[in-house]
Amino acid sequence: MSAPVHRVLEGIPAAPGIAVGPAHPLRIREPAVPHVTIPPDLVEAEVEKFHAARAWAKRRIEELREETRRRLGPIEAKIFDPQLAMLDDPELVERTVQYIRDGYLTAARAFNLRILEIRSEWLNSTHAMLLDRIADLTDTQLLVLAKLLDLPDTDLLHGTPDRPAVIVARELTPSVTVRLDPDRVLGFVTGGGTRTSHASILCRSLGLPAVVGVGDAVDEIAPGTECIVDGLRGRVLLQPTETERERYRERAEKARSLQRELRALAAEEPVTRDGTRIELLANIDLPSEAVWAAEAGVDGIGLFRTEFLVVGKRSIPDEEEQYEAFRAVALTMGSRPVTVRTFDLGGDKFPLFLEIPREENPFLGWRAIRVTLDMPELFRKQLRAILRASAHGRLQICLPMVNSVTEVLETRRLLEESKAELREEGKVFDERCPLGIMVETPAAVFTAEILARHVDFFSLGTNDLVQYALAVDRGNARLARFYDPFHPGVIRMLRHAIEAGHAAGIPVSLCGEMASDVVGAYLLLGLGLKSLSVNTNALREIKTLIRAVRLEEAQEAARAAEAASTGHEARRRLLETLGRSVDLAAFESLEREGEG
Ligand code: PEP
Ligand code: MG
Repeated sequence: MSAPVHRVLEGIPAAPGIAVGPAHPLRIREPAVPHVTIPPDLVEAEVEKFHAARAWAKRRIEELREETRRRLGPIEAKIFDPQLAMLDDPELVERTVQYIRDGYLTAARAFNLRILEIRSEWLNSTHAMLLDRIADLTDTQLLVLAKLLDLPDTDLLHGTPDRPAVIVARELTPSVTVRLDPDRVLGFVTGGGTRTSHASILCRSLGLPAVVGVGDAVDEIAPGTECIVDGLRGRVLLQPTETERERYRERAEKARSLQRELRALAAEEPVTRDGTRIELLANIDLPSEAVWAAEAGVDGIGLFRTEFLVVGKRSIPDEEEQYEAFRAVALTMGSRPVTVRTFDLGGDKFPLFLEIPREENPFLGWRAIRVTLDMPELFRKQLRAILRASAHGRLQICLPMVNSVTEVLETRRLLEESKAELREEGKVFDERCPLGIMVETPAAVFTAEILARHVDFFSLGTNDLVQYALAVDRGNARLARFYDPFHPGVIRMLRHAIEAGHAAGIPVSLCGEMASDVVGAYLLLGLGLKSLSVNTNALREIKTLIRAVRLEEAQEAARAAEAASTGHEARRRLLETLGRSVDLAAFESLEREGEG
């Protein structure tokens, strides 16, 4: 094996935190399936064997689900449901049986062949949700094969580390993630995977730093190679230099003290130096994140994305399951508001129960409110679930990608029908549950005055607004330098939408990444926004910012930024004004920028 060299691998930040330790490569070994055929009189016995292995695998998954529920909670436990569904899926079961009967294959061969076919179909798909599911498929494959080939299932894992280490693997499956001894795992690095894959979600719940999608380079990481996993930035340093080690030790220490500070800061109000109270809300992707946000002292949840309910599902999520998730967050937040956004599907997010249209430009295609209005069965279940959960807290409904009043009116009609049904069923709900929209297209911005007459609030979505305003795909790394939230064109749009909302007397907030960025949030305060919804890992910085600024100065800086001729110039002007009254060294994210 070649001598370890100093290298930096770039990947996707999947779970925050910093881990430092030796690499422990974990190979998930696919067992060799013998190439034998069977005589015709043994065919039915082989079919039986397959069904028995399937039943056994389901029991094992159920056990793991129960263990996960106890350790991490009910939402994390649900991560195993798609594997159970997969084992009953006719696409898998019937085709395997057919291969046994028609091809005289052993159950192991037939099943493995069908799994390989499904995997190659999914790998060739461009849809993120299918890629997210590949590790689930591997989990299922390994379990069933272990039974059919009579292997102890521990054989499939190439040993867990005997001392604390960074687990390095091509891919991480949900069952491997939860089965590893947490005392011996410092963090994870994987070649494949996405931020929304089930293993990544589990890493976040386990509080273990993870970087995924670093590519084939994982195969070259030798056992024992010293690694630093930076789960916030999506970076892995191999054989780091002494200076890097020092810097990360400091950073890890700083992160720990920031956590302590955040707890202390929870008690402090987000009030500007000249006395304006700003509403500080949190964005969450999972119900469990609300608990943390509540402890951090936020004023509410400004964006609760609900796509986690459909990732990997073959059927429309039922009302009860959704109701439980929304109710959990409503109860956690108590009297504080929670904005539940209806399914923002399409673009790069398609669940398995939707007929996936082949589109040239998915982000300009069948997305968000267009999908849900076309699928009333899906939409109604979600609206009913939110309404029912509204009885347990202060929920409000937010519609993604709205472009016209018609979309709002159609939704209102469905909402009223759902309310009438619930009344008839004797179910309680908040009759005045507010209905608002994401303002995230240029059309919505410039018709904000009209839209404001029909909705109860605006939530500005700069992640999409920037992409549509500048015609720059938000996910295209090659265009990243053109994706500029400080472009004067974007600033003007923001001012327009904020002022239109305020003039109409409805609450306006902003939940795009811009609110989680120190300079972005400063601009937004200057543009008159009194409510920001930020990512949980940015709460501390944004609260510190709010408490350090004067609104009058921010307003002056925003006017200067708006008059700049480029985004670069606009941002420079904002930083300049901010730096005059605030110690910029207090903001770690600004410091990181300097490192490139
Ligand atoms: C946005 O577009 O700014 C937003 C918050 O929504 P998402 O990132 O989920 O599209
Ligand atoms: Mg959006």
